[in-house]
Amino acid sequence: ITLLAIESSCDDTSAAVLRDGEVLSNCVANQEAHRLYGGVVPEVASRAHQVNIIPVVDLALKDAGVDKSELSAIAFTRGPGLLGSLIVGVSFAKALGLSLNIPLIEVHHMQAHILAHFAEDPKPAFPFLCLTVSGGHTQIVQVNSPFDMAVLGQTIDDAAGEAFDKTGKMLGLPYPSGPVIDQLAQKGTPKFDFPEPRIPGLDFSFSGLKTAILYYLQKQVRAEPDFVKDNLNDICASVQERIVTILLKKLRKASRQTGIKEIAIAGGVSANSGLRAGLKAMGGKEGWNTYIPAFEYCTDNAGMIAVAAYYKYLNGDFTSQSVQPAARLPQS
Ligand code: ATP
Ligand code: FE
Repeated sequence: ITLLAIESSCDDTSAAVLRDGEVLSNCVANQEAHRLYGGVVPEVASRAHQVNIIPVVDLALKDAGVDKSELSAIAFTRGPGLLGSLIVGVSFAKALGLSLNIPLIEVHHMQAHILAHFAEDPKPAFPFLCLTVSGGHTQIVQVNSPFDMAVLGQTIDDAAGEAFDKTGKMLGLPYPSGPVIDQLAQKGTPKFDFPEPRIPGLDFSFSGLKTAILYYLQKQVRAEPDFVKDNLNDICASVQERIVTILLKKLRKASRQTGIKEIAIAGGVSANSGLRAGLKAMGGKEGWNTYIPAFEYCTDNAGMIAVAAYYKYLNGDFTSQSVQPAARLPQS
């Protein structure tokens, strides 16, 4: 079984080739244009996908040493995501599927972030808990099988990645700011104490933190104009530390509540060094088996789409040519 997978839900255009469960290539074209605007501009993203998609698919096939005549099916992200971005990937997949006369497999982007764990060893055992933390989502998911997932808790406002990106914008850092804050935090100490929200159950909230950071910075800058510049590393370390403790405390609560000790993280924010180290430390204390994806499987990539699609292929779960992209798509 040889699959081509396409991911175009946000601002990265990606294509991957998988053969018999193994990812042979995983190519991503980043869109630098959004840095200018401090966030993703949907219309710009859509146009860039149109420019990038053919070269990225060609590269993925070439990297894998696979000819398109060898493909068994075409997988693509149907949603959730930006509609204008999804349309490009979905239309391309449909056209290629039609011309090669092979089936289509639609994939849910958030399920794929989780199933990225099955691209490489060690793989979590079912049931496991996955903290999925990305630019648009923050969820604790109980994963019973590849397509039986229950969301136990999620953010009621901003996502964890958004908290990083919006804080970065306040600090004058480029978009996406998560990786930049991560780098600067490693040179600082978390000496500023930002508040921890009190949200019941397993849900999250990050908008109060964002406001608290904004007001704190405004107050300090009034007294000391160079406050941000002089304390940038320590501010980043403090923000990162707070976001990570919010995430890990809820994850611990979910584990104690369910009794599940197979614990994974996924999504772009799972690339964060503070979260990765914090998860290992907490896992040691709680007796967890922890699973942390390789960096290339954290942020958006078609490799994870290919892995999810492989399970669907084995189940005979194909999609008709009349499929439409879906900006919102219910999970499992
Ligand atoms: P979604 O998956 O919810 O639709 P998305 O696809 O835009 O959203 P991802 O590509 O999974 O999100 O992740 C991007 C997010 O991850 C951005 O918010 C980015 O700042 C954040 N991020 C990436 N690397 C790091 C890091 N090292 N530390 C913190 N955040 C990071
Ligand atoms: Fe994503």
